[in-house]
Amino acid sequence: MTAKIIDGKRFAEDLRGRIADHVSRLKSEHGIIPGLAVVIVGEDPASQVYVSSKAKHTAAVGMNSFKHELPADTPEADLLALVHQLNADPTVHGILVQMPVPKHIDPNNVIEAIDPAKDVDCFTPANVGKVQIGLPGPVSCTPLGCLMLLRDELGSLEGKHAVIIGRSNLVGKPMMQLLLRDNCTVTVAHSRTKNLDEVVRQADIVVAAVGRPNMVKGDWIKPGATIIDVGINRMPAPEKGEGKTRLIGDVDFAAASEVAAAITPVPGGVGPMTIACLLANTITTASLMNGLTPPV
Ligand code: NDP
Repeated sequence: MTAKIIDGKRFAEDLRGRIADHVSRLKSEHGIIPGLAVVIVGEDPASQVYVSSKAKHTAAVGMNSFKHELPADTPEADLLALVHQLNADPTVHGILVQMPVPKHIDPNNVIEAIDPAKDVDCFTPANVGKVQIGLPGPVSCTPLGCLMLLRDELGSLEGKHAVIIGRSNLVGKPMMQLLLRDNCTVTVAHSRTKNLDEVVRQADIVVAAVGRPNMVKGDWIKPGATIIDVGINRMPAPEKGEGKTRLIGDVDFAAASEVAAAITPVPGGVGPMTIACLLANTITTASLMNGLTPPV
């Protein structure tokens, strides 16, 4: 069997198109222009790239994009003051503080300062709890993107056995909640899981979110399974030239493709979905803040 490649880049493009339609309807029917504020502290090059990309996509779907760049030595109190100012600003419907923040700032204090109504990363305890009990609100962006790809690929997920490898607050745990909500039987594996290969072999759906290149082998995969590879690992690629790198996932893509029914590539699978889902969350918070039912 050669697996179908799940094209996350194209799905994300279509999703951004639908989001742009929702933005124009919010404007024309309700006079609301959704606004997303992105805050970055310091000059970490990877974070700079993410933030620029987020700002570009926000503007491209017709939302207001507010970018706040603070120097690396910004005191925590100043960052918290900016967050409080954004909480009070009625033109801002989503607030994202790019993580990681510099070491002298406690990320938990930052997350706690964000108004849950504007927490488009779904980091605040209030929103984590809402996802758990199924109330409307923003949903963690990467797991939401994975769920959309799985639903698109498989239709109903009911009764499928999903094995998630990784239990982080960012990916593994919210993924577990979302798959449970879709009536999967969910197993969450982590670094202390015994016989991981045997656990993964039982899965109709594998979500790998570990950060270890090619960890999931082809012979761990049940024939016909659907594989979502969240992992992003930057590896040296001397074949592309000196000092060049390439991205690979947590799954041995070539070997798994021989066994699985469908698989996401890295790059071009889950990655592009994350920013699209951030925009979807901003539509959700803008709608809820104005007493409207979220369209996405
Ligand atoms: P974390 O480092 O926070 O979590 C990694 C998880 O993997 C932990 O739960 C850890 O277990 C588990 N783990 C580590 N080693 C093993 C092992 N040998 N066997 C089984 N489980 C193991 O990572 P994140 O969840 O933040 O990210 C995971 C990957 O996804 C990274 O590559 C990251 O770059 C990528 N990512 C991609 C995104 C995208 O947009 N595509 C967005 C977010 C992340 P334990 O809890 O026991 O330590």
